[in-house]
Amino acid sequence: MHKQSLACDVLVIGGGPAGIAAACCAAESAQRAILLDDNPALGGQIWRGKANSQATRWIDRARQAGVQIVGGAQVFAVSAREDRRTVLAQTETPEGLCTVQCERAILATGARERFLPFPGWTLRGVTGAGGLQALVKGGWPIAGKRVVVAGSGPLLPAVAAFLKTHGADVQLVAEQAPWSRLVNFGMGLALRPAVAMQALSLFPQLVGVPYHAGCHVTATHGARGALTAVTVRQGERTWQVDCDYLACGFNLVPNLELPVLLGCAVQDGFAAVNEWQESSQPGVYCAGELTGIGGLERSLIEGQIAGYAAAGEKGRQRARALFAQRRDLYTYAARLNHAFALGDALKTLASADTIVCRCEDARRAQLDEIAPGSWRAAKLHTRCGMGACQGRVCGPSLSFLYGWPIEATVSARPPLFPVRLETLAATGQQEPNQHETTGEKR
Ligand SMILES: Cc1cc2nc3c(=O)[nH]c(=O)nc-3n(C[C@H](O)[C@H](O)[C@H](O)COP(=O)(O)OP(=O)(O)OC[C@H]3O[C@@H](n4cnc5c(N)ncnc54)[C@H](O)[C@@H]3O)c2cc1C
Repeated sequence: MHKQSLACDVLVIGGGPAGIAAACCAAESAQRAILLDDNPALGGQIWRGKANSQATRWIDRARQAGVQIVGGAQVFAVSAREDRRTVLAQTETPEGLCTVQCERAILATGARERFLPFPGWTLRGVTGAGGLQALVKGGWPIAGKRVVVAGSGPLLPAVAAFLKTHGADVQLVAEQAPWSRLVNFGMGLALRPAVAMQALSLFPQLVGVPYHAGCHVTATHGARGALTAVTVRQGERTWQVDCDYLACGFNLVPNLELPVLLGCAVQDGFAAVNEWQESSQPGVYCAGELTGIGGLERSLIEGQIAGYAAAGEKGRQRARALFAQRRDLYTYAARLNHAFALGDALKTLASADTIVCRCEDARRAQLDEIAPGSWRAAKLHTRCGMGACQGRVCGPSLSFLYGWPIEATVSARPPLFPVRLETLAATGQQEPNQHETTGEKR
């Protein structure tokens, strides 16, 4: 079994915009920096598979700064030493176990989509909005297929435009937020020309695609186990739209597993950080969508601040110079999150027999029996969240339905992801135990 042990000053986990920016700034501040990402190629959700000139500039900058990039490396465990001065990450690469020991860690693991249960959401042909985009980026044939894009958030038009460019016949974009909030948000974009340009650039690709606000899918219809149509509602009006795919996501939720495993505090559903992007655990920084949903620019700025700050006193001056830009982006993020806040009508979509946890086949009625309950009670009574995804899908949806704190639904026990048995066996043969008990500094 191949084993690799690496060491560095600053370890960055997550190779999206926040992580790339963090690694660049740490390395340019004379730190030995390692950047790990679970995908073979850097770029995160937005740049992966469609790197533009901005992405290329950042990735080239990381290479030139001497960042050691390890792709295809999914971190499945992290632990802090007893003296809290070093962190050890365990990751599985195609070659085998790779452990990285570092003085400071920057977590930039991004976010994932929130799914909500409604009758038929588990039918073949129903995917996440970003999920279908990712499939198509990976080569899934979409040309000529009829697609409905639904849910909430600025991701929906971006996905619709992407799918249309790849030959999909996009029938409808159904956004649950009402027009009043969207118009208000749109007017505010006048102050953010870069975002406005990004939004406007989608218009030519979306010509002919109906965009309905205050509109959501209430049910799907299928034949032989596959999707054939969806029912949508807008106010009092309901109608049916024929389609082969429903790409459906309700905003984003942060991937909190690593910060929770390291004991970082979570506030209002996101990793809590101070002005330096440092979490409640000294030496552990968080950046990007882990700390709040706010788009590409916010992830880049937070990543830079975290990278500079993790480099110590000298870097902190450069980090401070970015504070004003970050403040401005926080205002934008607050407007974004207000505009696309999920409406209460979505809480009533699932009927008694709708599956809410598809790993364990737990149904809405079983959860209602224990309501208001708790995530723990849900697990004990229904096995909800105890299947293969470990609550990554049903946790955020039940948190919305029943008001449970999202961090309570995070399963933070190593291994965080399924790993090969030989990898697990290798972890038992080396550092973790020694590392945790000796307290020696590298
Ligand atoms: C599914 C999806 C699709 C999106 N599509 C678009 C789009 O088309 N246009 C747009 O403007 N915005 C899109 N966004 C939003 C966009 O991702 C953000 O605006 C922003 O770019 C996020 O940057 P980030 O670096 O914070 O996170 P991300 O870009 O999500 O990067 C985080 C990286 O960390 C990796 N990672 C997570 N956990 C681990 C681990 N344990 N070990 C190793 N690596 C790990 C992830 O695979 C990912 O590469 C999308 C978001 C999602 C969730």
